[in-house]
Amino acid sequence: MARDTLVLCALETTAYPYPSRDRQGAVASHDGSLAENRSLTVAARFVATVPGHYSGLMLSEESISSDEIGSADRRSILGRSPEIVEGYLREMNEPAFRARQVIEWIYRHGAGEFSEMTNLSKRLRQRLTDDWTLFESQIVNRAESSDGTVKLLLQWRDRSTSECVLIPDGVRRTACISTQVGCPVGCRFCASGIDGLQRQLSAAQIVEQAMRVQQLCGREDRLSNVVFMGLGEPLANFDATVDALRTINADWGLNVGARKITVSTVGLAPRIRQLADLKMQITLAISIHAPDDDLRKQLIPWAAATSLDELIDAGRYYFQKTGREVTLEYVLLAGVNDQPDHARGLARLSRRLRSTVNLIPYNPVPELPYRCPSPSAMQSFLLGLREAGVNVHLRRSRGLDIDGACGQLRRREALKR
Ligand code: SF4
Repeated sequence: MARDTLVLCALETTAYPYPSRDRQGAVASHDGSLAENRSLTVAARFVATVPGHYSGLMLSEESISSDEIGSADRRSILGRSPEIVEGYLREMNEPAFRARQVIEWIYRHGAGEFSEMTNLSKRLRQRLTDDWTLFESQIVNRAESSDGTVKLLLQWRDRSTSECVLIPDGVRRTACISTQVGCPVGCRFCASGIDGLQRQLSAAQIVEQAMRVQQLCGREDRLSNVVFMGLGEPLANFDATVDALRTINADWGLNVGARKITVSTVGLAPRIRQLADLKMQITLAISIHAPDDDLRKQLIPWAAATSLDELIDAGRYYFQKTGREVTLEYVLLAGVNDQPDHARGLARLSRRLRSTVNLIPYNPVPELPYRCPSPSAMQSFLLGLREAGVNVHLRRSRGLDIDGACGQLRRREALKR
């Protein structure tokens, strides 16, 4: 069962460009090598390098049965490039411009069903419906905050769930999206990591979250920003994350400017360099959360694998390759990392990297012992950094009344079941 399950997981993200009725399954093995699946292979290899987390990935094999996954014959069309859609339509002797029509229906007009694509023949619409899925997820919970933040809990065909969020701010419309179901990193203060990693999300599923948030904006409003800061570690699902980035950025896709897209990582140095080499102009945010390795290891288990010195080097490499200044994210935890010494250490790190610092007030999770510092303590911390010459911003808490912390809505729903 475990092997079958992993094969089906692999099929979700294999490189098959479009539905083919004689396609064979991907090959999977239990030693961490998953042939024909770049995303899972990268994740399996990566997770295998971090003590105690390989078993988390193996657990996910057993937690999803093949019945729950459903048919793999119909694949998501989201994230397929115009060339791939054109290739599929050519096999049906459809002219090349049909691909542009289909893509426009998806990303410009926000079609939820192929049947809405009224300038296509009925026969073609039916064939598209038979071969592809457009939206795979169901919205199983929607929470709206008094500050306008809207959080959606999406359920996939295997009944796993992930969160995506719309954060409106003036004219800005930001989507916060997830890259994994659960998270293998297990930061001590975060709801997403409590139960570990369940599985990777495919590129299509990552794009689908941004599309769901676009739907929340309505037809007159467009997404202006996308942040990969939801559940999961994006760089531990590297290929799917990069494929999704390309679709979100593409002029035929969601057309969000690269500089308006942020990928947040706890800091996987080799993957940061790999991302830098792609020269995509996106913003890289490194979650530091502590000014020294000892405290960082206490808060972020994966910090045991990468020192702050290595992260600073990787961040410098990112700047050299892309010209984009790196952001350091620092969640403020009362009595843990909010003292004047911590501010001085953070200022030193920021100067070494010539980075901007974002201070994030902690959004409490009821099961966890951490608390947000008082407003005056946060202001003191901010001033300490400013006086040290750091370009620093204190973020506003959003969605406090709707389980605003990352993974919290998903966890609450899971506990109800
Ligand atoms: S803070 Fe981010 S990396 Fe850490 S457990 Fe939560 S989702 Fe994972």
